[in-house]
Amino acid sequence: MKVALANPYWTYEGSIYFGCRAPHLPLEFGYAKAMLEAAGHEVLLLDGRLQDRGNQRLAEDVAQFGAQMTVVSTAPTYLFWRCAPPELRVPRDFLDSLGERGGLTVAVGPHGSATPEATLSKLGCDLVIRGECEETITRLAGAEDWKNVDGIAYFEGGIVVANGAAQASPFVDHPPLSWPAEWLAVHDHHHHRFDDDRKGYGAEVEASRGCPYNCSFCAKIDYRDAYRRRKVEHVIAEIDALIAQGVGYIYFIDEIFLPQKPLLEALVERDIQFGVQTRIDLWKPEMLELLGKAGCVSIEAGLESLTVEGREMLAKRCKLGTEELAELLIKARKHVPFVQANLIGVVEDDPALVTYWRTYLQDHGVWANEPVPLYPYPSSPDYRRLWGEPDNQAWERAHEHYLKSFAAFSDIQDQQPLPLRKLEAACCSA
Ligand code: SF4
Repeated sequence: MKVALANPYWTYEGSIYFGCRAPHLPLEFGYAKAMLEAAGHEVLLLDGRLQDRGNQRLAEDVAQFGAQMTVVSTAPTYLFWRCAPPELRVPRDFLDSLGERGGLTVAVGPHGSATPEATLSKLGCDLVIRGECEETITRLAGAEDWKNVDGIAYFEGGIVVANGAAQASPFVDHPPLSWPAEWLAVHDHHHHRFDDDRKGYGAEVEASRGCPYNCSFCAKIDYRDAYRRRKVEHVIAEIDALIAQGVGYIYFIDEIFLPQKPLLEALVERDIQFGVQTRIDLWKPEMLELLGKAGCVSIEAGLESLTVEGREMLAKRCKLGTEELAELLIKARKHVPFVQANLIGVVEDDPALVTYWRTYLQDHGVWANEPVPLYPYPSSPDYRRLWGEPDNQAWERAHEHYLKSFAAFSDIQDQQPLPLRKLEAACCSA
């Protein structure tokens, strides 16, 4: 089968989106392409931003290819599934441009995973995949009747049919990915990196997926949930190929980059720098030293709240006190040029205390951001605590709550975000 995998041309005007706006490698489609080709299918992989092609041009490419199935993503890459733009206007724009020319139309991403019916209505596509998508895309391409494939939802006679639950990929054996040289040549973005010693292109890699914790704000109930570790030899083979193509920095998109000696020791041997997101309470001082030796130049540590009460409220299950956490962050900073303590706005946190700890950490070289507000994504425990299982109005409800709850927005948002209905004016109503 001819399958087109299209990461649309992302734009974010008026969005609450607080993820990074630079282009990144669409890892989910990288895996899907490898699996589809191994199964004998022909694949056209497209990325609007990396190829600098608008949605119309992408749609032309798909039509010219003669796709029998076209898959579009509703989040810019796996890295941002947990904080995706809530609005579906970008994938909808791509699908509108494509019309009937792409064969079976399929949407993947956090939206269809959590709220399949609303997503089908808003996008007007044939089906959505629920959960992690690479195996399901491959099964759809090989199915005699796609309606029998597990982990999908579609409309039949105006009623939504959902085949089983959201899927999780086994992930452990995922093969080393390879990327077009021309994509890497424009990938000069070194994700979440703030030191000056840059060389080579940037790239994203996944060494593990999921996380054993259940922080209340973390949108991963329907995907990227259980912790799995990819075979280290595959990760290293992928990194070696990237280095050979001129990559000098990789960002591990892992939800939680846990201490893993064999991987770090292999990285010590290689001329590569990298960034991670992790929990600082899980690192021992000697492993932090190895992390620095391995080439880590950026740590984003999810401290989330500066008080034990605040961390409990966020269900962080962290055994250490604020002093011990601060100590570890400062130790990490001795080996890694940029260390960030990620803070979330928690009512339990007294503003004076927040200022004290932010200043203390910053005086010791650790960046602690202004606490950012929480968006209760439909796949988060917070959403379900507030409103139960997500329904067709879940994104509207979360959005409204978010806009109302916070008068002041995070320092990374430079404009007043718009209501979802305005952002999705071009989508069908749910
Ligand atoms: S530790 Fe990080 S990835 Fe894990 S549940 Fe908490 S916020 Fe999510």
